[in-house]
Amino acid sequence: MTEFDPTVPAAQRGFDFLVVGAGFAGSVLAERLASVLGARVLVVDRRPHIGGNAFDRYDDAGILIHPYGPHIFHTNSKDVFDYLSQFTAWRPYQHKVLASVDGQLVPIPINLDTVNRLYGLSLTAFELEKWFESVAEPREQIRTSEDVVVSKVGRDLYNKFFRGYTRKQWGLDPSELDASVTARVPTRTNRDDRYFADTYQAMPLHGFTRMFEAMLAHPNIKVMLNTDYREIQDLVPWRHMIYTGPVDAFFDFRYGKLPYRSLHFEHVTLPQEQFQEVGTVNYPNDYAYTRISEFKFITGQKHPHTSVVYEYPRAEGDPYYPVPRPENAELYKRYEADAKAMTNVTFVGRLATYRYYNMDQVVAQALTTFGKLRERFGVTPAGLEETVGVNGD
Ligand code: FAD
Ligand code: UDP
Repeated sequence: MTEFDPTVPAAQRGFDFLVVGAGFAGSVLAERLASVLGARVLVVDRRPHIGGNAFDRYDDAGILIHPYGPHIFHTNSKDVFDYLSQFTAWRPYQHKVLASVDGQLVPIPINLDTVNRLYGLSLTAFELEKWFESVAEPREQIRTSEDVVVSKVGRDLYNKFFRGYTRKQWGLDPSELDASVTARVPTRTNRDDRYFADTYQAMPLHGFTRMFEAMLAHPNIKVMLNTDYREIQDLVPWRHMIYTGPVDAFFDFRYGKLPYRSLHFEHVTLPQEQFQEVGTVNYPNDYAYTRISEFKFITGQKHPHTSVVYEYPRAEGDPYYPVPRPENAELYKRYEADAKAMTNVTFVGRLATYRYYNMDQVVAQALTTFGKLRERFGVTPAGLEETVGVNGD
């Protein structure tokens, strides 16, 4: 099926795909299915807006903010960048983060300046490598988030930058989390003070929401907001579902709740033009919040006032982060097996596949998923009709 039969009236055809969730995963798939396969797609989201957690909007002061925390786009994938470039122009932006440690604001990722300033040293990059070796705690196996850091920079820097922040963010000690969590933050021996080192680092020129609007603007795509898919799944005809919500909720928590970490966001608008030195300041050891981000750095907006967001980690609330640790991976595997066994539903995205993915990784996963759907439904004319019935029966 490269195209759906246009001679069959839309009302009789119903929707070919029901996409649950209008975030990156759902929007990329809706766009591809409509644009490439000519499929009719209904996108539903229970929130009052598109974009998922990457949604942005102007606050009452007219400042562009990210209601679900600071979202900075970065990727090494040319394919992902080229794909999204169809829907937005970009503004180059390299994110910088300082950490408040021992009364100083120093660069994180830990780099040459971080160490020299904290310890009153004047090491060169070459000397720093030796210095790290001298303080590092050798580990035979790098299994946990503690192992990653202490084996590279030693216990003191680990305590200053990672232990407190991680305990606050996850409610767990780094020794209880997979290595992949703190491995997201590199260690550098040079003076590079960018948070990310990816090839492409840029923000959508007019914001994420405008980009999502462009992705979903296809005439074959209908968007229904403020709607849980369970309210309409039996009312609207559809053939195949793309599900991007939490995987445990889909199966009514049949194996128990999969842990997701939540956050409370406190948004504040301030009368001054600038609040802090860089886009984000981390507070590993003080306060109940982990970090403060100032949006104008990230968006490049000029405005006489400024808006910032404080992030307070929570166990309960909207699911934002899967929690990478072995017992959760085990539990997810049980849900994953059930998800794979469903022929009329495809699971994709950060919550549906329980992966700590950045935006670009979700886009890449969605594009790969589209390739598989295309193979499955795109080989014979009206392939969908042949494989599954109405409402996935
Ligand atoms: P989501 O964006 O969560 O979309 C899923 C959608 O499904 C939601 O809109 C939800 O309302 C909807 N939904 C769920 N259940 C139902 C239902 N039953 N019925 C209807 N709709 C439903 N990534 C980066 O690359 N850079 C960053 O700087 C960055 N910063 C982040 C900061 C924070 C605080 C957080 C939490 C994440 C950050 N991310 C960042 C990750 C990024 O948010 C995700 O990778 C991406 O948004 C995931 O897209 P998704 O489509 O998988 O999920
Ligand atoms: N981290 C830390 N101290 C920092 C920054 C990060 O301990 O100053 C750890 C912490 O466990 C965090 C993880 O590294 O959850 C990943 O950091 P990142 O900034 O990538 O988190 P995200 O932006 O996804 O919340």
